[in-house]
Formats: sequence, C-alpha cells, structure tokens
Amino acid sequence: MRENANNDRFDLVLFGGTGDLAMRKLLPALFYGVRDGGLAGATIIGAARQPLGIDEYRALLTEQVPRHIGEADFDDAVWQRLLSQVRYVAIDATQPADFAALAAQLSNDEAVPRVFYLATTPSLFIPICQHLQSAGLVTPATRVVLEKPLGRDLASSRTINDAVGEIFTEEQTYRIDHYLGKEMVQNLMALRFGNTLLEPLWSRSYIHDVQITIAEELGVGTRGEFYDNTGALRDMVQNHVLQCLCIVAMEPPASINADSVRDAKLQVLRSLRPYLEGDLPHKTVRGQYRSGAIEGAPVTGYLKEDGIAPSSQTETFVALKAEIDNWRWAGVPFYLRTGKRMQERLAEIVINFRPVPHSIFETASGTPHNQLVIRLQPDDGLGLEINTKTPGDSMRLSPKLLNLALRDTREARRLDAYERLLMDVVRGRLALFVRRDELEAAWAWIEPIRDGWDRSGEAPKGYTSGTWGPAASSALVGRFGCAWHEED
Ligand code: NAP
Repeated sequence: MRENANNDRFDLVLFGGTGDLAMRKLLPALFYGVRDGGLAGATIIGAARQPLGIDEYRALLTEQVPRHIGEADFDDAVWQRLLSQVRYVAIDATQPADFAALAAQLSNDEAVPRVFYLATTPSLFIPICQHLQSAGLVTPATRVVLEKPLGRDLASSRTINDAVGEIFTEEQTYRIDHYLGKEMVQNLMALRFGNTLLEPLWSRSYIHDVQITIAEELGVGTRGEFYDNTGALRDMVQNHVLQCLCIVAMEPPASINADSVRDAKLQVLRSLRPYLEGDLPHKTVRGQYRSGAIEGAPVTGYLKEDGIAPSSQTETFVALKAEIDNWRWAGVPFYLRTGKRMQERLAEIVINFRPVPHSIFETASGTPHNQLVIRLQPDDGLGLEINTKTPGDSMRLSPKLLNLALRDTREARRLDAYERLLMDVVRGRLALFVRRDELEAAWAWIEPIRDGWDRSGEAPKGYTSGTWGPAASSALVGRFGCAWHEED
C-alpha cells in the first residue's frame, strides 16, 4: 500500500466517537495533527448510537476534549478548523441498515483512503467489519484499526482475526498497542541499533538479567467490570510488557520496514520458554491490592471497588520470570512485573550487566555491576551507572549515574503515543502495529499461566496499595540471586 502524505484527502471514521478513548486520546491527537499543519485533507466522522445532530456532536467535543489538551497548547482557531472537518453519524453497529447513513458521508472516490477506527468493545469488531463489507464500504484503500483487547485468549483472538481477515488483508489491519507509539520505546531501537556502543554487550555474555516494570498508581476506577473479567496478565503482560521485551531482546532487523521489525519481534516471542505446570509456583506471582494509601491519601481495596465480584480472584499484579531459549539470551532471566495501586507510576526497563570478572579494588562486596535504566514513563530518559573512584586516599569505587533526561534535550515537541500511531495509520505505515502472528504468539505464551492459575484454585496474594506488590514478588527474584531495581 502506498504511503500517504500528511495532507492528502482521507476519511477517518471513529466508531465509539462519543467514548472515553475518543475524547481523551483520539480527538486530542487529531488536534495536534491539525496544529502541526497536517490533516488538511481529513474528514473525521464520529459514529455511535447516541442520536446527535452535527452541532450537538461538535458541542460535546468542545465540552469534553479541550481539557485533555495542554492549556498552553490549546488554540481556538485550530480547534475550530478541526471541528469544521468533523461530521457525525448515529449508527448502531449491530444494525446493518444503519450503515447506509455512513456511506452517505464518505467520499465517492474509491482512491481516497478510508480509515475505520474501532474504538468500541471488541464484541463489536466482527459485526462492524461485516456490515461495512455488506454496505460496500470496504475499498482497496481502506484500513481498519483495532483497539486492544483483541480477544481474551488465543481462541477468541483467532476468531476475531479470522473474521476481520475475511474482509481486510493483513496490510489493511492496524492492531494498536499504544506502547509501541511511545517515544522511548522507539528510542530503545535507536539506542540499540544506532550506536556501536551497546550491541556488542547486548547478550548473555555481559548481561546478567533484564527487568521490565510497568506500574500504575491508579486502581480499576470506572472500568471495574471489564477489569474483573480481564486481569493484569491479559490487560498488560500479553501486550505492552511483551512488546517491550521483544524490542529489548530482538535481533537487529534487516531494515526498519514493518515486516523486518515484526519478523524480529516474532522470533523472540517464539523463543520464549513455555511454562510447565510445575514452574508456576516459583516463576510466577499474582497479587490483588488491598486498601492502603497512594501519595498519603487512603484508597480502597480491590474487592470493594465498583463492579468487582465479592470474592473475585482476578489479579491486579503479576510478576514473572521469563526465559528466552536462543543463543543470545540462554540463561538470562527476564523479570516482568506490572500492577495497579503500586508505589508510583513508572514504566522502565533495567539492564543489569554482569560484574567484572575479577575485582582489584577495595570494596566490601566486590565491584558494583553496571546498570542501564531506560525510563518510559513518567519522563523518558536513560540512566547508566558506571563505577568511578571515590575521592580520597584509598582506591575505592562507587557507582555514579550518567543521566540523560530526554524531555529536556529533545528539540521537537514530544508526540503522544496515540498521535504518532494515528498519523502512521493515515500515512499507511505498519511498523508500529502488531501483526497477527505476533499477537497469537503472545496469547499462546501466556495461556498456560492463566490456565495453571485457574486450575490451582489459589487466591492471588494480597498487597497493600501504595507498595511494590506482594512480598512473594521480591522472593521470586531473590530466589535467583536478583533484586528488583527499587530494592537495590
Ligand atoms: P466507552 O467510553 O464505553 O465508549 C464506547 C463507545 O462505543 C461509545 O462511543 C459508545 O457510544 C459506542 N458504542 C457502544 N455500543 C455501540 C453500538 N452498538 N454501536 C455503535 N457504537 C456503540 O469505551 P472506551 O473507554 O472509549 O473504550 C473503547 C475501546 O477502546 C474498548 O475496547 C477499550 O478496551 C479500548 N481502550 C480504551 C482505552 C481508554 O483509555 N479509554 C485505552 C485502551 C483501549 P453509544 O453508547 O452512544 O453507542
């Protein structure tokens, strides 16, 4: 498919155009696109069941969206320009007849790309695609964007992919994992493949262990019912955590094109060692938050949140020891951890290098090992701990931090992940979207964990809100002679 320029003509249909994702992420991303001089050829069509006239929809957007755009960035002239490009269609996605109204809003020129962004519950993905096709709205220049979660296990993800695949080719299908749109995740590729410095050290010979943490302070909020049916393993590990792991662990791709990168990630997923039933007690931990305090304010426990079943065993925390069975990584543990109501909001990748083979310096516990910390949020940056001599007479060493805060040094404005991804859909760039085989390999790897936990009947371990999870999480890494980064 040909790449489009920023201002080419295209139609963008937002199914779920009145929903939270549209208001918080998609419309702000479009605002910035217009502000930066793009999207001049876009017609943006909100679609949802609520019967709204165009003026009412524009009023709803004006009420809901600006608060999600930085105050310093908001510009009413830009906002009005965006609104002038917005349309609205009241459509029940389960009703084939409603799609005629959508047809009337789209360009008659089949060469004009159509983007159907499905920001709705996944149970609507199949009917929407089928009704689009029956209404004759799928042209060769059409793209479909699928939000997570894409299924709740391998079988249901295959069902969705099969049905969508009957109508759209893989090249027309954009599966969102917004972590891939994060500046620092892409910077990780720049770091690895744009410097000679790290790649020679990037293997079992010099790396002792890798840690990936995605921690949230938030609880389940208003998404209780959805979350209780999902849990942290499906909600975070299957997608964001594994995508980060792939970028850390993949072989250098032949080029930066979509399939080279996705082939390299797929190889990692296929090299992940499957869990056997006996592995689960010592290689996995699941937890559930109890009441506690976040930034000094008391918060309620998971079981008391709205929409949660009274004796729910859904995990809000997961820690795993993952292993990659290939020549580069054999024997290097990848510790993965994610949770809600943790001590701080943080996403980081920590590379712990091996200690020097023989220490000649005066240190009580040997020469400290080098550590590279790649911070994805809240602020992106890199920290490298290197050993230097402690001032004074003796030849003692202490680690010093080389810190690169990318927020301060970047010249261009930082793009929000959704902004980058939406613009990539418009341009027809697939590299930052998840291919079907990657998605299914990820589901296949986590499924034995989910099944094993269900079979064990064991309850998740409680942890106090505002901490780093259950004590068993420290014990998991401790058993293999490691400590989580914050416990160093
Ligand atoms: P939401 O606030 O509940 O919005 C759902 C949208 O779908 C509404 O616009 C709703 O409008 C529309 N809708 C529901 N049933 C419909 C039907 N039969 N026909 C047409 N439209 C229908 O949900 P959301 O938070 O925006 O999330 C949407 C999807 O994105 C979910 O799959 C979610 O998991 C995923 N997601 C959300 C976020 C986020 O930050 N919110 C982040 C990542 C992924 P009407 O009721 O008027 O029809």
